Amino acid sequence: MMRYDFHIHTEYCGHAPGMTVEAICRRADELQLDCIAITDHIYHDESAGHIDKIRDDFSKVSCSVPVTIGAEVDVDSDFTDGRLASELIDGIDYIIAGFHYVPTVGNYPWKPEHCSLDAATFMRVWETTLIGVVSNPCVHTLAHPGRLLAAAIGPKVNWAAAMEVFKKAARQSAKTRVAWEINELTGQRLSAEFKARWHEIYEIALDAGLKLIFGSDSHEPQLIAQAPFSEQLLSRLPAGSLSTPQEILEWKKSL
Ligand SMILES: [Zn+2]
Ligand SMILES: [Zn+2]
Repeated sequence: MMRYDFHIHTEYCGHAPGMTVEAICRRADELQLDCIAITDHIYHDESAGHIDKIRDDFSKVSCSVPVTIGAEVDVDSDFTDGRLASELIDGIDYIIAGFHYVPTVGNYPWKPEHCSLDAATFMRVWETTLIGVVSNPCVHTLAHPGRLLAAAIGPKVNWAAAMEVFKKAARQSAKTRVAWEINELTGQRLSAEFKARWHEIYEIALDAGLKLIFGSDSHEPQLIAQAPFSEQLLSRLPAGSLSTPQEILEWKKSL
């Protein structure tokens, strides 16, 4: 189990039943976590109002654990430049960029059959979008780096070419101080082949001087701060590779 969890969804996203703000806070208190961030999806301008509802709910509960109200803002799949799907993010204390959809097509690929682009075209739009996402200084954290790539291309991915793209993205992230997320939910979705080399993405991040942050991406209370995949991944990285949320927030502030 992790001491903190900086990626938690609520029932306002429509696919996390039982995740009321009260249930999240109760669970964080039970686990005596150091801090959490509630980071629900912002899919578009209309869903940005969820964040106000979460703030309102939070004002009515008592919670011993410090809570940051953030958001996981979708990347706009109508474009290939990594722009976010909503600009209504001023005043949100922690912004995770969620790159979920195939650029130009717009669907969520659970497996390669769901990606209608050929591999070369996908790689081209994935690269420009990824670089665009991490060029945005409003973004604190790149959510689950590589998840979309693994889902959309699968075992046929050119791993070496993908790692070169991650190196470019890491250099850009160092300039804008975008942290990369170790995301537990991703581990539940990766094949064994990907799991075995997933730490290589984070070695690239560390080589570029980036900070790493943990998020469970939980959609149910029992999964908050749970991290079997993330702990295994971290065991393959140098000790102390994981930053605290305070370090991530201060790193961005000092930009
Ligand atoms: Zn996500
Ligand atoms: Zn998420």
